[in-house]
Amino acid sequence: MNWEQWFADRVAEREAAGLRRILKPRGAGDPVIDLAGNDYLGLSTHPDVRRAAADAALTWGAGAGASRLVTGTLELHDALERELAAFTGWPAALAFSTGYHANLSVVAALVGKGDLVVSDAHVHASLIDAVRLSRADVAVARHNDAADVARILAANPGRRTLVLVESIYSVLGDAAPLAELAALAEQHGALLVVDEAHGVGVVGEGGRGLVHAAGLAGHPHVVLTVTLSKAMGAQGGVLLGPASFREHLVNAARPFIFDTGLAPASTAGALASLRHLVGHPDLPGVIRTRVDALAAALAVEAPAGAVLSVPMPSPQAALAAQAACLEEGVRVACFRPPSVPDGVSRLRITTNAGVPDADWAHATDVVTRASKEHR
Ligand code: PMP
Repeated sequence: MNWEQWFADRVAEREAAGLRRILKPRGAGDPVIDLAGNDYLGLSTHPDVRRAAADAALTWGAGAGASRLVTGTLELHDALERELAAFTGWPAALAFSTGYHANLSVVAALVGKGDLVVSDAHVHASLIDAVRLSRADVAVARHNDAADVARILAANPGRRTLVLVESIYSVLGDAAPLAELAALAEQHGALLVVDEAHGVGVVGEGGRGLVHAAGLAGHPHVVLTVTLSKAMGAQGGVLLGPASFREHLVNAARPFIFDTGLAPASTAGALASLRHLVGHPDLPGVIRTRVDALAAALAVEAPAGAVLSVPMPSPQAALAAQAACLEEGVRVACFRPPSVPDGVSRLRITTNAGVPDADWAHATDVVTRASKEHR
């Protein structure tokens, strides 16, 4: 087998289908206005956050040095877990090196062969991979359809069951019917796992997320994942739930046990972002104002969070609109098959409360013109 040839053939296939994706390194101090990333509050470059991350690297070193269960648990992890749990209203939290690891852990440590996972059709790849890792049976429910979830739960009485959803969906930008789903989980003895990657820092009182806003913090049939890599501007993931849930994960979650602890700079950066958010509870309101105005300008429905999804007629039209934006100094994301669950190519435009007002006005104008021209 000639592996180099095999790799080249795969790339050529994707190229021919118009689906080849490439990595574009960003330079430091890039002047482009970024409406493609997930730094929703602009905290990744906030001076307090940068300084906290830099100080932590100087104090603790560049890496945690070992698994959390060996010597890789730092006082910084403890502080972050305590403060994030208090902020979101949960008894306990456990930090992971990525949100991806957190999602792998919550599923694989809670269910196994013979158990059941009911997964919304649009959950993130990390949750899909988590189900594969767990070897549990999976039933895919129609997107945001609580009646479909109810039907599946009713057909599987007595099985250990997880229900997987995102609070705000990463590509579509819509919100899950959390209260209904939590009630169903309770009624059927299931556990609702909510991925708040795009909710915490963005929605709810002071950015406490959609689970908190729905009055479900601490609910006995709910646990949640938060990522530190989006609104928190750093890197990492956190699971939140009861103290016994945390203890179980520490002892049973392989992506936690066999992974090096979250790096000191990331931990301290996330903690500084959290403290900034606590001190500036109005910050998520800037996202709301901006995203509502942008949705109106683009004539699309205002989303629940910071993610605006603009359907485009073809992958080519989406790419052309993206290129037109970049030409005028604005970066938006373009999602095409196979990265879109429903096969619909779209521009994904994210709101960043950290962009100065004048830049935001320019970006709104550019994005509106480009998307209208190519739709
Ligand atoms: N869940 C969702 C919904 C996400 O969008 C992402 C990031 N794309 C993740 C989990 C993974 O988080 P992280 O980037 O921290 O690994």
